[in-house]
Amino acid sequence: METTNGALNRKLRMALVGGGQGSFIGRVHATAAILDNRAELVAGALSSDPERSKASAPAYDIKPDRAYGSVDELIEKELALSETERIDFVSIATPNHTHFPLAKAVLEAGFNVICDKPMTFDLAQSEELVKIVESSGAVFALTHNYTGYPLIRQIRQMIQDGELGEIQAVRARYLQGWLRTRLENEGQKQASWRSDPAKSGAAGGFGDIGTHAYNLIRYSTGLIPDSISCNLKIFEEGRALDDYGHAVIRFANGALGTVTASQISHGRENDLSLEIDGTKGAISWRQEEPNKMTFRRNGEPHAIYTRDPNAPFTNEMGQAASRLPAGHPEAFFEAFANVYRFAYDAMVKRATGEAFETRNTIYPNVYDGVDGMNFIQQSVESSKQNAAWLPLNHDCARS
Ligand code: NAD
Repeated sequence: METTNGALNRKLRMALVGGGQGSFIGRVHATAAILDNRAELVAGALSSDPERSKASAPAYDIKPDRAYGSVDELIEKELALSETERIDFVSIATPNHTHFPLAKAVLEAGFNVICDKPMTFDLAQSEELVKIVESSGAVFALTHNYTGYPLIRQIRQMIQDGELGEIQAVRARYLQGWLRTRLENEGQKQASWRSDPAKSGAAGGFGDIGTHAYNLIRYSTGLIPDSISCNLKIFEEGRALDDYGHAVIRFANGALGTVTASQISHGRENDLSLEIDGTKGAISWRQEEPNKMTFRRNGEPHAIYTRDPNAPFTNEMGQAASRLPAGHPEAFFEAFANVYRFAYDAMVKRATGEAFETRNTIYPNVYDGVDGMNFIQQSVESSKQNAAWLPLNHDCARS
């Protein structure tokens, strides 16, 4: 396994934004980022509260002189360091409304960015971010981490190789039950900002997890979206944003897709599933059992694919996303680390003066972020207009 980042011959230096005491996904970023020994976490602005930010640093082994009270301070002090010490990239793991201003500041300072989803607060910000990324020349990756599962990458390549024939129907569901009650009224940190329109954005559950389901459809099938009809509902009385919804999507090739997102389904944890029907075969996969995928063809026994980097049925993309031999479960952290791993390849190229791909990347990028924000905006708009069909064919949506 690569440890020195090839020609760069050193680890990449990371700063974490978010991930302070009591938070969730920042710790996952910090863990995934170092899984392949290609980066080290050296700096952070870990919380919106400067004191808590500094108090959170020891848990990440961030030294006091690089534990900053804010992102502005982080940028100023890191730029003052020599090139041999300064960070290479910043991971943004903060609530949605902060992504754009933070990413903008970091990119304009010249650093690469790994940003959590949804990419920005609204579509206009995401379109603006494209311009900022393009003029910065920096690497920008978006942690739609479910794209990093080896069997999702396997499915993507099987579809590209024509093994399923033409894709005609696709169903993605992301079901959770944790907001069955008004957890946001009990001071639960993650629930509070997610159900606040000023912090979450125009959608609740549809922005938080519906966008993962939509991205998974786009990433695995490559289908180009055409139009959308959506119903969003608030089932828990008094909540400000949707906690249930489903959308029907028409794709440019005539395929139909559905996205369902729920936060109010009793007993559902992170039940993200994907089903794809092609003219030659059909596939189904579930995030809670990520190392298995079923491939069905009429008249043949159902084939269960396991995550096995050494099996002859495993394609190149599935293999490249695996770390352990078959049977040792790989899961959330490893998939998350696969977004990092391939973004690192681009960061190394940038640091050593080589050209790197920005649009058709293996990892989700800024254009996928716009596609996701467009999905959120048009879902909300369609729902407001009694599920009217609205366009979903943003220029940024890639094949
Ligand atoms: P959280 O509330 O648990 O943590 C957010 C952290 O960001 C806190 O420590 C907070 O103090 C800090 N913060 C807020 N503003 C800041 C600022 N300006 N500077 C520095 N720190 C700041 O939230 P979470 O559940 O970890 O979610 C964070 C983001 O990650 C959200 O955008 C969410 O959608 C996304 N997320 C993604 C996944 C995934 O699977 N990819 C999973 C969970 C959350």
